[in-house]
Amino acid sequence: MEIKKKDIRALTREQLREFFVAQGDKAFRGNQVYEWLWGKAVYSFEAMTNLSLDTRSMLEANFVINNIRVDTMQRSSDGTIKNAVRLHDDLIVESVLIPTPTRTTACVSSQVGCSLDCKFCATAKLKRMRNLNPDEIYDQVVAIDNESRLYYDRPLSNIVFMGMGEPLMNYNNVIKAIDMITSSDGLGMSPKRITVSTSGVPKMIRKLADDGVKFKLAVSLHSAIDEVRTSIMPFNEHFPLSELRQALEYWYSCTKSRITYEYVVWKGINDRKKDVDALIRFCKFAPSKVNLIEYNPIGDDEFRQADDTAISMYQEALEYNGITVTVRRSRGKDIDAACGQLANKS
Ligand code: SAH
Repeated sequence: MEIKKKDIRALTREQLREFFVAQGDKAFRGNQVYEWLWGKAVYSFEAMTNLSLDTRSMLEANFVINNIRVDTMQRSSDGTIKNAVRLHDDLIVESVLIPTPTRTTACVSSQVGCSLDCKFCATAKLKRMRNLNPDEIYDQVVAIDNESRLYYDRPLSNIVFMGMGEPLMNYNNVIKAIDMITSSDGLGMSPKRITVSTSGVPKMIRKLADDGVKFKLAVSLHSAIDEVRTSIMPFNEHFPLSELRQALEYWYSCTKSRITYEYVVWKGINDRKKDVDALIRFCKFAPSKVNLIEYNPIGDDEFRQADDTAISMYQEALEYNGITVTVRRSRGKDIDAACGQLANKS
């Protein structure tokens, strides 16, 4: 029977050092390997050229590197790039590179499919298959950083966890991935340039605050009225807005970091004055700003983007109340790379 080899990237630096000592080698060999695996992000033992050939084949005999592979890359007419990424067990997730004149943002996935059931989101139609490992999240970032350098001549500048999945339902792995992305052993990116987006899991938002994370938080709010929110995001029944609100107040009191609310305005769903008023009240609980995002149709008729007058009503009322609001145009729509369109179509 073949023995299943362990994924070497599941080992911490300390465990790698111990492994080498147990082999009768020097502990610092562990540091060398760790550097290849994370800082240099190589995907083969053969590439670890400061190790002897014997050491490299010994590693080969004991471990695997379960790296991702970019299966297909699509480029939108607006410069957005979508990667369909194959995992070691042949499941697929998607990640997106979004270039603007001043930054390159990676939008990465945290789960294969999604466990939530937001009615307007294409990813929700795929059931959740599994959580991504920290290295699978890290690899998506590395792949996009490479593409950014190749096609746009500059490194990646920002990361948003707005791809497939609910990051706070894969809490530990997302935190580990961000630790490596921000560590000087890894990509050395500033946590201020990373945003984790959640549909709003109160217990986990509190945990983020308790864990003292330094990245930014975005919440996909879409309605500040329970009845409406539950009708479009059914899990809201279990995590009602009052609990979300308290968790967000707690987040702000611990981190002093302003929260971003993502919000789509749909015709006949949340385009009334009372929807706007409820949002403004909600925004006053903790310092926040609102991104009004364009609706990207996912192929059913239930949801339609609201009229421009409704969007303007939101914008003006928020501004009047001193709340920062940005109206966001979608990127990468022609290749199904925009918010809520990631569904492994290709
Ligand atoms: N589960 C997390 C991460 C996904 S982020 C979260 O909900 O925040 C994806 C973002 O796109 C969320 O803000 C989501 O509400 C939004 N979205 C989903 N479907 C959309 C669609 N069809 N059009 C526009 N935005 C959509």
